[in-house]
Amino acid sequence: MKPHQHSNRPSFSGQRGDTLVKCTVCKEAAIIKLPAHNSKFCPRHFDNFFLRLVAKAIKRYHMLEAGEKVMVAVSGGKDSLTAVDVLSRLGYSVTGVHLDLGIDENKFSDNSLDVTQKFFAERNLPLVLFSLRDNFEKNMEEAGKHFDRFCSFCGMTKRYLMNSLALKHRMDVVATGHNLDDLSTALLANIMRWKVRFLNKGVPCLPPQGNFLKKIKPLALLSEEEIVTYTSIQKIQRVQSTCPHSREAKFKRYHEVLQGIEEQSPGTRRAFYEGYVRNVHVFSGHPEAETRLRSCIICEMPTTQNICTFCKYWRDTTAHLGAGNPI
Ligand code: AMP
Ligand code: ZN
Ligand code: ZN
Repeated sequence: MKPHQHSNRPSFSGQRGDTLVKCTVCKEAAIIKLPAHNSKFCPRHFDNFFLRLVAKAIKRYHMLEAGEKVMVAVSGGKDSLTAVDVLSRLGYSVTGVHLDLGIDENKFSDNSLDVTQKFFAERNLPLVLFSLRDNFEKNMEEAGKHFDRFCSFCGMTKRYLMNSLALKHRMDVVATGHNLDDLSTALLANIMRWKVRFLNKGVPCLPPQGNFLKKIKPLALLSEEEIVTYTSIQKIQRVQSTCPHSREAKFKRYHEVLQGIEEQSPGTRRAFYEGYVRNVHVFSGHPEAETRLRSCIICEMPTTQNICTFCKYWRDTTAHLGAGNPI
């Protein structure tokens, strides 16, 4: 789950005190003020701004080339639904994939599935569904109970399955809904603890490597607040239930620190992240960042060990040797 839902509120709603705040473009009443962009927008011009920024990020970071088929991993939350909505409005051929994690508390997984299915049905877009219970006879909690940190186990499982399902459906690219708040917070947290092995992975576009498809984050330059505003303008219904395993408190603290700095100096968060992307080469070639990969002896996906972490926790490791098909 996102670590920072408390900040999901637009800056203001057009009126502050007696001053009517006007859209920078058309002078109609503005619904959002974006100090980082030195702009205020009415719904129509905010929508234009949002689409333009996503299109610019896709182009700048070479996320999608003409004809590439993209599979968007959709949780039912605001970010991934927005990613699908924007990519299809920009004319890309989009297929969704939703992983039913089998988390029963708060009806989290059932509600996420319902919201995602409804969203895709309304737009008549293709959606691939994958249920952990149906395929592995256990849910995320049962499989991850011996793993130290549940959220990293869940993240590893989701990344493996997104890639495998995209390969199976002959897609070229996997997209996720990560936004600027997520990426800059993870960046700060990884720098503060010098997790060098993650520091070359937080970019908006990770090139393909062996059986790992290209991974993109089309909302990398859009903030949480901008995405919340977009979903309210476009009337996108997102899942209301929250995951019972919320991200560590440490992650939330880093988000609050960045939020505080952003309020004092608008634009710092974006400059921090964009600067990182420009300088990411600093971390490549670093012995901790460069992992030598071999093939998992069960699923043949790239791994640093004999048996990849996914197979270790999800499969009977005495069976399927060299099956060659990850799912
Ligand atoms: P999270 O790790 O929950 O912050 O989610 C990060 C991204 O992973 C989301 O924006 C989605 O693109 C994707 N994702 C998360 N949960 C699921 C899921 N159950 N099914 C498909 N994609 C997911
Ligand atoms: Zn306007
Ligand atoms: Zn494996």
